[in-house]
Amino acid sequence: MNAPVQLTDVQKLYGTGSGAVTALGGVSHSFTQGTFTAVMGPSGSGKSTLLHCAAGLDEPTSGEVHLAGTPLRGLDETALTELRREHVAFVFQAFNLMPALTVYQNVVLPLTLAGRTPDSAWVAKVIQSVGLDQRTKHRPNELSGGQQQRVAIARALACSSAVLFADEPTGALDSQTALEVLTLLRDQTRAAGQTIVMVTHDPVAASYADNVVFLVDGQIVSESPTHTAESIAAELAQLARLAAARRSPEAGVPR
Ligand code: ADP
Repeated sequence: MNAPVQLTDVQKLYGTGSGAVTALGGVSHSFTQGTFTAVMGPSGSGKSTLLHCAAGLDEPTSGEVHLAGTPLRGLDETALTELRREHVAFVFQAFNLMPALTVYQNVVLPLTLAGRTPDSAWVAKVIQSVGLDQRTKHRPNELSGGQQQRVAIARALACSSAVLFADEPTGALDSQTALEVLTLLRDQTRAAGQTIVMVTHDPVAASYADNVVFLVDGQIVSESPTHTAESIAAELAQLARLAAARRSPEAGVPR
């Protein structure tokens, strides 16, 4: 099956010698086309590192990452930037909007940077779908936090990229806006076959995904294709206990 994001035995160590921290301890996973995957785990379990390695923003210490069919190892920064521009969009918790640009200009910026001519009908549709069609000429500081996040999402969707990486995309949103944004992301995998990888600590957000991957201490310990927010929260609580027990083994794993 086509997997636009593929990790094979990815290890990531920070630092060297006795002070080295293993952020990822040999992670293998295929994020198949048209799927929405949530990556969850206790704080420090390696979620952000996984996202950064998968997106070519950080280089694994060993192992292989394939992004849109291209092995990342050995690519220089220019080639990586081009690959990302062509195939990848990002939504981070910090919206990273350009303050001097309008909503519309922010949304089309990655396309313009990639030398592509924005399809104005598609861009209008995307902006409308995030409910900002009355705000296209506003600048970010004239918008609420939720609206700014929706601009960031519209910007990511406007690219129609093969892969969308999202890091806590709903972290700064009120619950109603968060649900709208998650629905939009889920619809995008269905309608456009986009592959979405979303790091989140929120079981409700994760429940919108097709698959939930759980990390503990830099390793994937379980996966859950069928789930509810409640079952995800229960799994997370269990994994947090497991992680704590690993750190102080004498405490055992409480039930
Ligand atoms: P999560 O996103 O699940 O909270 P991270 O991927 O941020 O986890 O971190 C995984 C581990 O790697 C943690 O122990 C963290 O302290 C460590 N780590 C992350 N980034 C760095 C860094 N730049 N330098 C040193 N250690 C780091």
